[in-house]
Amino acid sequence: MVTILGIPLDENSSFLEGAKTAPEAIRKAFHSPSTNYCTEDGIDLSQDKHWKDAGDLMLSPMPAAIAEIELAVKAQLEAKHKILCLGGDHSITYPIVKAVSSQHKDLNILHIDAHADLYDDFEGNAYSHASPFARIMESGLAKRLVQVGIRTLNPHQREQAKKFNVEQVEMKDWSDSMRFSFTGPLYISLDLDALDPAFVPGVSHYEPGGFTTRQLLNLLRYLKADVVGADIVELNPTRDVNNMTAMVAAKFVKELLAKLIS
Ligand code: MN
Ligand code: MN
Repeated sequence: MVTILGIPLDENSSFLEGAKTAPEAIRKAFHSPSTNYCTEDGIDLSQDKHWKDAGDLMLSPMPAAIAEIELAVKAQLEAKHKILCLGGDHSITYPIVKAVSSQHKDLNILHIDAHADLYDDFEGNAYSHASPFARIMESGLAKRLVQVGIRTLNPHQREQAKKFNVEQVEMKDWSDSMRFSFTGPLYISLDLDALDPAFVPGVSHYEPGGFTTRQLLNLLRYLKADVVGADIVELNPTRDVNNMTAMVAAKFVKELLAKLIS
């Protein structure tokens, strides 16, 4: 069973608020009559019984929200459910991975993002959406962290990546023939700003030179791994144009569900 969990938190966003309304926008796009419930491999999610939507978490203000997210995810994992979390900003990934890592030894993480999110802290906030992977790595929650799509590295983040042995495929070095495989459990964290802003106007941070939607769908298609959990973060509906970014997020909900179900 896979549980979809909405995590409406955007208090740790450094630039713009708005991501807390993303779970609702993604659900609306997912159920939009403009499309159907079939994955590209032909699973009809309207008929499939291997997933359910548990709605949104009710969160206290920061910092209590962090522990609440971890507890809620842990409860799903203890019930033997895999999780697909809908952010929220990227700060939710630290407590999610904390829970996932406690249930899955030797966890691998595939992090898809324009940003490495490795700041020791950002403007004094250790829980910033610019810092989740620093928290994850310093706590030893991942055996292997592979970052893809990165195109904003500064000297501090290069240093952090080196310190934590992060494997990075920078966007400038991307090739469509690249394939990814992992031994052991894999968590996928998808920050929608990994895509080029042309495809996702509804994100807080526009970083040109990113993936097409098709490139990312194919990255998932050819991925070889036992996917045990995933998140889709950083949709900001206040910036979206005709819900097109929400539709992209909903497309990845479908394809990630397919990965998690199989
Ligand atoms: Mn991010
Ligand atoms: Mn990002």
